[in-house]
Amino acid sequence: PEIENVAEHNALFGKYELGRLLGCGAFAKVYYARNVQSGQSVAIKIINKKKISGTSLVANVKREISIMSRLHHPHIVKLHEVLATKSKIFFVMEFVKGGELFAKISKGRFSEDLSRKYFQQLISAVGYCHSRGVFHRDLKPENLLLDENGNLKVSDFGLSAVKEQIRPDGMLHTLCGTPAYVAPEILSKKGYDGAKVDVWSCGVILFVLAAGYLPFNDPNLMVMYKKIYKGEYRCPRWMSPDLKRFLSRLLDTNPETRITVHEIISDPWFRKGYKEIKFHQ
Ligand code: ADP
Ligand code: MG
Repeated sequence: PEIENVAEHNALFGKYELGRLLGCGAFAKVYYARNVQSGQSVAIKIINKKKISGTSLVANVKREISIMSRLHHPHIVKLHEVLATKSKIFFVMEFVKGGELFAKISKGRFSEDLSRKYFQQLISAVGYCHSRGVFHRDLKPENLLLDENGNLKVSDFGLSAVKEQIRPDGMLHTLCGTPAYVAPEILSKKGYDGAKVDVWSCGVILFVLAAGYLPFNDPNLMVMYKKIYKGEYRCPRWMSPDLKRFLSRLLDTNPETRITVHEIISDPWFRKGYKEIKFHQ
């Protein structure tokens, strides 16, 4: 129904049968679809070229394609193929059945053990990306999906940057990400290290998982930024001391002293029940 153009219809429907709308983002709509021949379920992200006519946005889409097709990890959404017509781009991805992790959190906080499980899977994916020079830069619960087995999959690489695109000083400069999950050094606009800002966002995500609410929040955006900048947050009373200590290492406003992915993996709170997640390179 959303696809007006007949040529597009054929390009897509020859191979895929389009189903219900799964979700909307800023520039894209994502639909459920079935491969007509194999019966395989997929998710198709449709990007309207008209909405992204700016050169940097087109570059962003191309970047998303090249990044996603290079990532092979059990906790990262797989990109099967990319189709394009005059007016639209179709990203054919692995269909992730369980919906957004965000939808589950909004029903209440998770136990520390369940929060840990999701966090371990998130860090496994993030560490894998970092080791390949890919930084997500928009990590938040809306971009974390759950599969039918309740395992986490990181999606939406639309904003991620690759190392080659970093300026000669080694810092990333674009102001991006979502306010509540954004690291303080991004707000100060001095340029930042992609790995460090992902760790900060992971810290905010872990807080939300375990506490059920955002660590830095205010109806007034400027007040919220100020809280982020100062690292002003309070853990709920019932949170374990080990988790409180771990969170303080993740939500360290100083990127220089903030915990690294390498250090996260050896933290006692993190390690509990951690099995190294195996995958093919
Ligand atoms: P945007 O870049 O516009 O934010 P996303 O890639 O985040 O787009 O997709 C928007 C929404 O579509 C997601 O938040 C999610 O609800 C849904 N979605 C995206 N990819 C998938 C997928 N592979 N399987 C199932 N649902 C998906
Ligand atoms: Mg998104």
